[in-house]
Amino acid sequence: MAVCDLCGERAVLRDPVNKVALCGSHFSAWYEDCVADTIRRYRMIPPKARVAVGLSGGKDSTVLLSVLTKLGLDAELVAITVDEGIANYREDTIAAAVSLSQRLGIEHRIISFSDICGKPLDEILAVSSKQACSICGTLRRRALHTAAREMDATRIATGHCMDDEAQSVLMNYLRGDITRVAENYRTNAAELFIPRIKPLCRCTERATVAYGKVNRLLVPLPECPYTKYALRAKVRTELGVLEYKYPGTMYNIVTGQERLLAKLGPAIGEVVVMGVCERCSQPARNRLCAACTLLERQER
Ligand code: SF4
Repeated sequence: MAVCDLCGERAVLRDPVNKVALCGSHFSAWYEDCVADTIRRYRMIPPKARVAVGLSGGKDSTVLLSVLTKLGLDAELVAITVDEGIANYREDTIAAAVSLSQRLGIEHRIISFSDICGKPLDEILAVSSKQACSICGTLRRRALHTAAREMDATRIATGHCMDDEAQSVLMNYLRGDITRVAENYRTNAAELFIPRIKPLCRCTERATVAYGKVNRLLVPLPECPYTKYALRAKVRTELGVLEYKYPGTMYNIVTGQERLLAKLGPAIGEVVVMGVCERCSQPARNRLCAACTLLERQER
């Protein structure tokens, strides 16, 4: 039995990169410090901020909201759950989100795809499910931003962890999306969007799940039926194999990307000036924002 390197109690996690084993309470303290340090280092939350936490009810966002409530931040927390309208999946995760926010005493709002575009995702995908995740992602960003505005939030926090960040870097390469890889454009988007922050971006999914289990935060939940269509699901599987064989791979991808951007220096490419969508008044690059462009295509 592995024991904690700090107190000799039974260890719950042995970090394969640092080779440190920790018991439940030392591991929880280490995880919370890691999140607090990330928030400080990237100056994610200014004093008196009102932070809207995207709370899907899944493991990452559940851990995020729970940890943020423990950090003694000079900020007010509220939670937003987006109901995409996915049968036999969303009901349970929404129930988990409602229960958590009630337990923590956090103001909670549920916004659905039907609220913002009149139909649930299942109906939007009735013809083809192949684009499920890109359609879902676009509409979810819109729903989250709409609800955050209505709740006067000054930051939107999402539960993306290091695995998600590493997957995104690889997916940009796989798609040949060099603009995103190099972030070589300037934009006025920061003036129009509520800034988004990812306080778990330095924590692996493995550590996040371990924190959730140790602190009894997680309940068994179903998987989204559209996951199988996502490129991300395949990248996640392959990256998981690499991480297992070569611990530290994901950290290297994420920090390598940061070093690349630092070497490239401030963005010097095309200036992308954003305006306001003709249909919904949300920030938009073109006549319509990404969500309304998608919906207009659906209506044809
Ligand atoms: Fe949406 Fe795809 Fe996630 Fe399902 S797996 S909730 S369709 S992004």
